[in-house]
Parts: sequence; C-alpha cells; structure tokens
Amino acid sequence: MIDTHAHLDSTFCDISRVVGLKAVILAGSNIENSKNNLLLAKKYSQILPVVGIHPQEINDDINLLEELVKNPDSIAIGECGLEFVGEVDKERQEIYFRKQVELAQKYRKPLIIHARKAVDEVIEIMAEYKNLSGVFHCYSGGKKRIKKILDLLGEWYFGFDGNLTYEVGLEEVVKIIPRERILAETDSPLLTPEPFRGQENRPVYVKYVYQKIADIWGESFEKTEEIIDANAKRLFKI
Ligand SMILES: [Zn+2]
Ligand SMILES: [Zn+2]
Repeated sequence: MIDTHAHLDSTFCDISRVVGLKAVILAGSNIENSKNNLLLAKKYSQILPVVGIHPQEINDDINLLEELVKNPDSIAIGECGLEFVGEVDKERQEIYFRKQVELAQKYRKPLIIHARKAVDEVIEIMAEYKNLSGVFHCYSGGKKRIKKILDLLGEWYFGFDGNLTYEVGLEEVVKIIPRERILAETDSPLLTPEPFRGQENRPVYVKYVYQKIADIWGESFEKTEEIIDANAKRLFKI
C-alpha cells in the first residue's frame, strides 16, 4: 500500500504510523513544511517528499519554491490549486497556482492538485497547459467533471481519502472512474476513515480506503492493492 497524500510534521518519530506501507508521499503546503518533507525523507526511506504551496497558505514568497522543486529528491509539486471557501484572494491564489503549474512543466514533475469549491476553475486553467500529469487529490468534483478531467492533455488521476468510508455519493463517483486512474490517500492528520473517525488520522489507515475501493469494485483486497499501487508508481515514477 502507498499513502499518496499525507502531512507529517518535523517532530515525526512514531514509525508505527507508517509501518507496513511501501511508501508515504508527503504533500507540502508552505515553504517550511516542504523543507521538512525533504528532511524527513532523508531520515525515513519510505517517505517520499513533495514540495508546494497550498492555496490557503499563500503568504510565503513563491520564488523560494523553485529551489526546492529542483531538488532531485522531490517527486512532485503540490499541493497547489484553488480553494474558494470563505473570504479568499482569488487572484493571488491563481498567481500561486499558475506559478506551480509552470514549475511542473519546466521540471517535468507531476502535480498534486487541491481544488475545493473551485474544481471548474482549476480545470479551466489546466486546459491551457500541455505536458502535465497529476492527481486531483481528495477529489470532490462529482460525477459530472470526471470526463472533463480525463479529457485534459496528459495523464490525470483521482485521489480518494477516508471520507470515502462515510460520505454519501462518493461511491458512485469511484464506480465510473477508470480503475487505472484511482489513487488512495489519507490526508493525515485529517479525514480519518471509519472506524477511527473522530480521532487523528495516520498513514497506515490508508488500508481502509483500499478496502472501501475493493468493496466498491467487488474485487479482492490484493488485486485492488496491485492496481492502485501500480497507478501511484506510474504517476509519481517511484
Ligand atoms: Zn488538500
Ligand atoms: Zn493535504
């Protein structure tokens, strides 16, 4: 199993949170934790670092990101995108997003997209660029946007989290996405799946996401794991 999207802080030392997983991909959300991701990856071989600036954390100097993207250890850029929840500076979010999309093109790295209440706007921007690949992490665009995303140039994936175990309607979304375009993630420490809902999430709980997808597909856990892990390896070249 591979958790393709988690956040662990620099004080991380509880190895039981990742034990048994082939890999844990750490998403960045600002410059500081992107640097931490790179450091944690030096300490723990299972950890694969990603660097990026989250649309709700657009205070850091975006120009500092390129140095981290250039680091050969960083396997992708993100999480970046748009989140139109509450009072936000949409223009500034777009500037940060486009800058990261351009870095992805320049350094040929996949993108981890965070799109909340802004999936259409993100798709519109992505449609302007070529030679990109990535994942719509914690996909929340419903059934009607799947085709639009699959039609984008490049290879696009859909990430599902612990909320798949309890959110009504998400099962139907999973059913119509091609199997070879689905990834499992936790977004630890948030989005804890059943049966641990209400507690802090951890990467090992990604197995409940795999199990839920296996149930939806009517497939064995082993076969499901094989398909989803192959997807993660293909996208992130790991
Ligand atoms: Zn996110
Ligand atoms: Zn995240």
